[in-house]
Amino acid sequence: MKRIGLLTSGGDAPGMNAAIRSVVRSGIYFGMEVYGIERGYAGLIENNVIPMEMRSVSNIVQCGGTRLRTARCMEMMTKEGQQQAVRTLEKNGIDGLVVIGGDGSFRGARILSEEYGVPTIGIPGTIDNDLAYTDYTLGFDTAVNTCLDIINKLRDTMTSHERISVVEVMGRHCGDIALYSGIASGAEIIVVPEIQFDMEQILRRINHSRANGKHSNIVIVAEGVMSADEFAKKIQSGTEYSVRPTCIGHVQRGGSPTMADRMLAAQFGNKAVRLLNEGIGNRVVGIRDNKIIDMDIIEAVSMKKTFNYELYETLQMISM
Ligand code: ATP
Repeated sequence: MKRIGLLTSGGDAPGMNAAIRSVVRSGIYFGMEVYGIERGYAGLIENNVIPMEMRSVSNIVQCGGTRLRTARCMEMMTKEGQQQAVRTLEKNGIDGLVVIGGDGSFRGARILSEEYGVPTIGIPGTIDNDLAYTDYTLGFDTAVNTCLDIINKLRDTMTSHERISVVEVMGRHCGDIALYSGIASGAEIIVVPEIQFDMEQILRRINHSRANGKHSNIVIVAEGVMSADEFAKKIQSGTEYSVRPTCIGHVQRGGSPTMADRMLAAQFGNKAVRLLNEGIGNRVVGIRDNKIIDMDIIEAVSMKKTFNYELYETLQMISM
C-alpha cells in the first residue's frame, strides 16, 4: 500500500490529534504517502484532501480537538454519498483509509470496506467509551479526568453549604463516564441508562449518609437518563437539603489529552498503519486486558456493550 488517507469523524475526543500524528509518522516510516481528509466523511465527499508531512503533525500531541476537524455527515448514509466518497479516494489514488471516530463512524467505514472494497481500519475515538469490543476508547480517560476536576470543586462548595449536587455528564446511551467519574470522585450516587433508578433508594442513601456525618452529596446523572435540572427537581421534591444542578457540558470534549489517552493514540495509530502495511483492511483496533488488539470491523460494530455491574456495586459499597 503506497498512499493512505486519514479522517476524524463524529464527536471530537481528546487524543485524536495524537492519533493523527501517530498515523502520519508511522505511514511515513513505512514509506507511504499520507493524506489527511478534513471534516470527516463530509470532507471525503467534497474532496477536502491535504497531503500530510512529518512536520504537518508537529506540536499537536498535547492538543485537544482534531486538527483535521470533524463533522456529522448525513450524505454518507446515502448510496450517492458513499459512491462520491469512493470517487474521491480513487481520484487521489488513496488505496487505504484510517477512520478515527465512534460507533457511527465505524458503520461508515464498514460500508466503505465491505461494499466498495476499500481497505479501512477504524480507531475508536470517542469520549463515550461505548464500543463493546475495546476496554477503552480514545478520549474517555481525559473526559473523566475533566469531570473529576469539576466534581472536586463542586464537592468543596456543596460541603460548605451542606448541599446536594446533581452533576450531568456525557456518554449518550453509555453510563461509563458517570460510573468512572462516580467511583473516582467518591460520588454517593450514580444514575446510568443501563440501570433503572429508584428515587426512594436514592433518598434513603442520601439520608443515611447525612445521618452518618456527611455534609454534602454528589449525584452523577448520565445524559442518557435525564438532564441535571430535571433530576435535581425530582430529588428536591423528596428532601429538605438544598439541591443544585450542574451540567458539565462540552468542556468534557476538550483539553489536553492525559498520558493514558496519548499512549492509546500512539499505539492505535501505529497498529492501524502496520495492518494497512501488511495489506490487511476491514479491521478496527482496540485495547483489551492491556493488549492492543485488532478485530473484524463487522464483528466489532455488531457487538453489544455490557455494563460493568461489579464496578457499580463497588461504588454502592464504598461511597456512603
Ligand atoms: P460519537 O460516539 O463521538 O458521537 P460517532 O462516530 O458515533 O462518534 P456519529 O454521528 O454517530 O458519531 O457518526 C459519525 C458519522 O459517521 C455520521 O455523521 C455519518 O457520516 C457516518 N455514519 C454514521 N452511521 C452511518 C451509517 N449507518 N452508514 C454510513 N455512514 C454512517
